[in-house]
Amino acid sequence: MAVTEPAPVALSPAHDGILRRQALRESAARTYARSLPIVPVRARGMTIEGADGRRYLDCLSGAGTLALGHNHPVVLEAIRKVIDSGAPLHVLDLATPVKDAFTTELFATLPRELAGNARIQFCGPAGTDAVEAAFKLVRAASGRSGLLAFTGAYHGMTAGALAASGGAPDVQVTRLPFPHNYRCPFGAGGERGADIAAQWTRYLLDDPKGGVPAPAAMILEPVQGEGGVNPAPDGWMRRMREITQERSIALIADEVQTGVGRTGAFWAVEHSGIVPDVMVLSKAIGGSLPLAVIVYRAELDLWKPGAHAGTFRGNQLAMAAGAATLAYVRENRLAERAGTLGARMLARLQALGADHPSIGDVRGRGLMIGIELVDPEAEPPTVTAENGDAPPPDPALAAVVQQECLRRGLIVELGGRHNAVVRLLPPLTLTDEQATAVVDRLADALRAAERSPYRRASAGPTR
Ligand code: PMP
Repeated sequence: MAVTEPAPVALSPAHDGILRRQALRESAARTYARSLPIVPVRARGMTIEGADGRRYLDCLSGAGTLALGHNHPVVLEAIRKVIDSGAPLHVLDLATPVKDAFTTELFATLPRELAGNARIQFCGPAGTDAVEAAFKLVRAASGRSGLLAFTGAYHGMTAGALAASGGAPDVQVTRLPFPHNYRCPFGAGGERGADIAAQWTRYLLDDPKGGVPAPAAMILEPVQGEGGVNPAPDGWMRRMREITQERSIALIADEVQTGVGRTGAFWAVEHSGIVPDVMVLSKAIGGSLPLAVIVYRAELDLWKPGAHAGTFRGNQLAMAAGAATLAYVRENRLAERAGTLGARMLARLQALGADHPSIGDVRGRGLMIGIELVDPEAEPPTVTAENGDAPPPDPALAAVVQQECLRRGLIVELGGRHNAVVRLLPPLTLTDEQATAVVDRLADALRAAERSPYRRASAGPTR
């Protein structure tokens, strides 16, 4: 489909001043703003225009939020319609026609087995809020407080969600091995590695001396996003469903980043055919505005009124924008498009890897793609739980690649345990020409970065 490009704006002298004032006034905890020193003033589709008049192809998409890119006409129309109707914009969690329509559209997309018997909780506006709600729900329903979560996971920045994310220890959370193909902790990879990971999970849960606090739920990402684009094998997903079902442990699928067509299915759990007990949804469901919900089996709905409240649960504009986005993705089969186009991009990037030993691994699902950069000249790797037998990651090279991409008008994200994975999250409306331009610019940026004298000097900030 045609994505109209914005007309150029005049060079703005404000550009440098804005960046300077941001550095002076904003928090040391700011993230994207450090590695992407741009001042977006206009955007349409995949293109962002900076206050300096430069244009960028945006492969960050609001950290995977913008399924339809920036300012898609159907999204803008839906927002305008609400504003022009005189409907209240703030309604707490009261019923409205806009919310009713959003819920109907969302339920129409859910796995049928869940949709037929689902409840929805509108949460505070961020994904992390919905993760907290999911934990409260399963704890209230089961009377148990333990949680099972995976190495390399990312579920958000509030206390509970952070505790379930890799690297944030909590006594209630048992950390299980996520099956990594490239850096397999068991030195196996592939189906064998996933099989060992599943066996370990089963063994630990059944070991009376395993030290696992009685789990209310297991939470997993069908494709780990921030963790470095690690797709969970379908067979392993089915094993996790079996293991949890056999032990009456709720399965929570965190589809905050994988949802709404991104991985080539409307919801990423569809690839394996599993039906989770709880789905955590945010990012794309709000059509670029903040919205987060959990949907879950009605039998779990045992928590008390007010168990998870919040002032901003009724964002009417986000619900309208979200409903329009969900409908557009469904009607235009954009999940399928993400699957085919993503596979094509992956193949091109894998071919690039043949000429670049610094590309350790190219992986992904649909339009969620990761390129892990390594240092092939570093000391021969020792086989460790962390590294398997792959060369060590090269975060300094990744940081330079990101900057070289920016110089070539391409915005990419970094992620993974060591910030050495270049991540691509383009909108699902990406054209074939844009996909080619993304890979071309990235390849060129990589060549430049490999020659760069800064390569060994600058590791980017960790997020
Ligand atoms: N879960 C996943 C899988 C995510 O990718 C993210 C955000 N990257 C979150 C939860 C947290 O969402 P938010 O940043 O909106 O709190």
